[in-house]
Amino acid sequence: MIGFGPVSTTPIELTNWAGNHRYRARMLHHPRSLEELRRVVSAARSLRALGTRHSFSAIGDADELVALDLLEGSGRVTIDCEALTVTVGPAVTHAQLAATLEPAGLALANMASLPHISVIGAAATGTHGSGDRQGNLATSVRALRILTGTGELLELGPGDPRLQGAIVNLGALGVVMQATLAVERSYTLSQRVYERMEWDALAENLDAITSAGRSVSIFHRFGELIREVWVKGDPSAADRLSLFGAPAAGGPRHPVPGADPVVCTPQLGEPGPWCERLPHFRAGFMPSAGEEIQSEYFVAREHGLAALTALREELGPRIEPLLHISEVRTIAADELWLSPHWRRDSIGIHFTWQREPEAVRAMCVEIERVLEPFAPRPHWGKVFELPASRVAAHYPRLGEFDALRRELDPRGVFLNRWLAQRLLGDGAAPTP
Ligand SMILES: Cc1cc2nc3c(=O)[nH]c(=O)nc-3n(C[C@H](O)[C@H](O)[C@H](O)COP(=O)(O)OP(=O)(O)OC[C@H]3O[C@@H](n4cnc5c(N)ncnc54)[C@H](O)[C@@H]3O)c2cc1C
Repeated sequence: MIGFGPVSTTPIELTNWAGNHRYRARMLHHPRSLEELRRVVSAARSLRALGTRHSFSAIGDADELVALDLLEGSGRVTIDCEALTVTVGPAVTHAQLAATLEPAGLALANMASLPHISVIGAAATGTHGSGDRQGNLATSVRALRILTGTGELLELGPGDPRLQGAIVNLGALGVVMQATLAVERSYTLSQRVYERMEWDALAENLDAITSAGRSVSIFHRFGELIREVWVKGDPSAADRLSLFGAPAAGGPRHPVPGADPVVCTPQLGEPGPWCERLPHFRAGFMPSAGEEIQSEYFVAREHGLAALTALREELGPRIEPLLHISEVRTIAADELWLSPHWRRDSIGIHFTWQREPEAVRAMCVEIERVLEPFAPRPHWGKVFELPASRVAAHYPRLGEFDALRRELDPRGVFLNRWLAQRLLGDGAAPTP
């Protein structure tokens, strides 16, 4: 136990949400005030902030962890109706944020498949939903307040050139104390699922299919047919009873074959608020399969079909037995330095795997080999095997990010093994 006076610090055995990563940290701090958090940061040699632990890797691991849920103001949500922004603390999840925004007539532009994750953790990893014209969730961020490795409380606003480098931060710049997001007027969506689409129909109509709604997800298991296409769009579009030969489903579906769709948001064309249609899963229920691991790779949109075809032809039959489900989504390009969608309209090829870590790792290596010609960028919060050199090659602004990291955290308190291994490589040692 470390002597921090009033800061509650407990020895821990902690896993991530999916249970596939056991944190090596043995100490968990629960500061209640900024001053207590500052003491934790200044005394630590290796520290990470916890979000809601929905990442699948060691991205958020360190010698010590700090939970922010007891921190004064960590659950605060403050709306600015004139500026059309909302400011949230680090404990706020998308579900909690939506529960405040929707009654105020406001909305987020997009959401991930689940609303259970923290807003700030999601931005830190470039978490995304789907939509040809929708950036990832981090692109909504307009300002950040960060407690840096030096104990300074840094405000990064829209005019600060460092903001675009600090939003997708992988937890490496300090503790994000609050984020300000752009919001829009509330809107209504409906959701429909179309089943058993031919791969040829997708190949011939990709643009029309991914633009059939504000957010479109294509679920498949590398089989003869695409299992389902989920379209979340304008309520009038829900009258369509087939999509390029795929009929509308007659009842609710769960993306994972055999799982109970009661946990999913309404799909039968019934209009509803944005926050009850954009996520696949409802807030009060367990999302996805639970016993799972996830991986995802992003390629430039123009390579999406070729990348999918290469995976199907070279690995489809070997991928299938390890898979719960695979999902294809689209994400608009952005300017965030470490965003996997930096200057690239992207197609995300996602895998929800059975929880078999060794087999998944081996399959990731194979997938990365097949995707190599398409310059894949991995999802930061999911499992991948690419070495730092191959990841770094796709991030031209990585040098600037590392310089910012060293400026804000010269002791390297927030530099963890994962970051060195997966992105920064040998040059990641803290500056003296
Ligand atoms: C069932 C399921 C479904 C998913 N669906 C999607 C999806 O649809 N789209 C998608 O893109 N991803 C998806 N993910 C992945 C997930 O959204 C990301 O991994 C995201 O980071 C989770 O946020 P979190 O709060 O749990 O972060 P954590 O996993 O807790 O942390 C992630 C990183 O952020 C850092 N961090 C968190 N909070 C702070 C803070 N306040 N200050 C500094 N650093 C911080 C941590 O240190 C760590 O490095 C899914 C995951 C699960 C389990």
